[in-house]
Amino acid sequence: MSTAAASKSEAKRYNNFIGGEWVAPSTGNYAPNRSPANIDDIVGEYPSSAAKDANEAVAAAKAAFPEWSGMPGPARGRILWKAVEIFRQRIDEIARCLCREEGKTLAESKGEINKGIALFEFYSGEGFRLHGKTLPSEMKQTFTYTLRQPMGVVALITPWNFPFAIPAWKTAPALITGNTVVMKPASNTPGTATLIAEVLQQAGLPKGVFNLVTGPGGAVGNTLVDHPEVRAISFTGSNEIGVALNVRAAKRGVKVTAEMGGKNPVVVLDDADLELAVPGILNGAFGSTGQRCTATSRVVVQKGVAPQVIERLVAGAKKLKVGNGLETGIDMGPAVDESQLKTDLDYIEIGKGEGAKLLCGGKRLQEGALAKGYYFEPAVFTGVKPGMRLHQEEIFGPVISVVEVGDFEEALHAANHVDFGLSASIYTRDANTAMKFVERSEVGMVHVNNPTVGGEAQLPFGGWKSTGVGEREMAEEGAEFFTQLKTVFFDYTGAVRTTKNY
Ligand code: NAP
Repeated sequence: MSTAAASKSEAKRYNNFIGGEWVAPSTGNYAPNRSPANIDDIVGEYPSSAAKDANEAVAAAKAAFPEWSGMPGPARGRILWKAVEIFRQRIDEIARCLCREEGKTLAESKGEINKGIALFEFYSGEGFRLHGKTLPSEMKQTFTYTLRQPMGVVALITPWNFPFAIPAWKTAPALITGNTVVMKPASNTPGTATLIAEVLQQAGLPKGVFNLVTGPGGAVGNTLVDHPEVRAISFTGSNEIGVALNVRAAKRGVKVTAEMGGKNPVVVLDDADLELAVPGILNGAFGSTGQRCTATSRVVVQKGVAPQVIERLVAGAKKLKVGNGLETGIDMGPAVDESQLKTDLDYIEIGKGEGAKLLCGGKRLQEGALAKGYYFEPAVFTGVKPGMRLHQEEIFGPVISVVEVGDFEEALHAANHVDFGLSASIYTRDANTAMKFVERSEVGMVHVNNPTVGGEAQLPFGGWKSTGVGEREMAEEGAEFFTQLKTVFFDYTGAVRTTKNY
């Protein structure tokens, strides 16, 4: 088996994966993939590809489609299952790469990979269950039913914050339903995506069924979005890019699913168990450096418990050990890059300017080895009001905004008062209030006495309002996106159909 690595220089050089081969980019250019934890640590050099490479990948995927889509679903599933076994064997190596290139801790990296493996497990079984439905016809002796068939070549465009799980939750359903894939990962995290391609090759996926092209979103991404052979696009990332991509794809009538930003609230009512609520908020807000689409960024707290909640959040934030996630004992890694660090720092000034009170954190950390990375002190703001930018806009960093409210109705209003609608959580001991929150919360995923984060392979994942466009990801729904329905009328009368036998 050939491998992704192309040279043995100090920083290994990797290539695109096209038509089952590791291919140098047409530009001849490679970009160093530097760790945000230590910019001297180069994970590898990855192709800065161009439109030509994306076009070649689509051509390879198109050529592979007839054979792959013609293979029975269970047989496709067995190849995905083989990949599950290899991912498990290689988990330490993949986790190390993920940790180095994205910055989350090694434990968080392994957690993410296990979640992605569960998605491959789930979808390998779906190969047995790609069902349509049978329905009675209005006509005599006519068998009417539906079939789910693959779209053809599909493009997967993924963000950096879950470099394993998001490619997994798009690739596995796309493949099991018989599509062939071209994936473009985020430029910050090409390493994990390259290892996924290696494992799929090792698992025996036929040539051209999965193709990987790394490089800038503009050149590679736009080529895929505009390509006439690409029949569906699954995107996760920012609203800015996702909305523009959707408009572009709509011009040629192509199906898109776009999962975008979040601004997720936790509501803490006076009757909440604070022993549950506070650790849940700290985990949701500061886990993965706050760089999760489902991260907790707003805490809507009832006045009776606000002083205790705030005090404990500040104490918890101050206790976190920030550093290189490869080291043991580290709770929180760096921002993913300089630009995200700048965004985090900018929002501290924006919050202060709006009149919110910064109780802790909010500075760049640069002591000793930290000077080599993009480290940021976890921050807690109080005195936040629903109209403020701090309350409305996605920061995507470890910053909590606390909003104090008088009662449940006010809490619900504050929680819903944003454009985004990904996830929300409530901490209360009152089941009636919890159910009212579940019913009236304007989000795609609600948690009760549980942090805002998380998803499971068998459960639909995605958001309402400006967070999500298109179908849900994961679960059966995630596979449906990659199929198109065909309705079949099978007439077995053997007679000419007239209005009499209708
Ligand atoms: P991003 O900047 O929008 O990038 C996402 C992907 O789009 C990257 O692969 C990027 O490539 C590519 N891209 C850039 N320009 C493009 C173009 N013109 N055409 C096609 N593709 C293009 O997002 P990000 O910073 O990587 O990710 C963070 C965002 O993702 C946050 O807003 C977060 O909330 C969201 N997110 C949402 C979910 C969810 O399920 N709702 C899950 C995770 C993350 P380059 O890297 O080369 O620019």
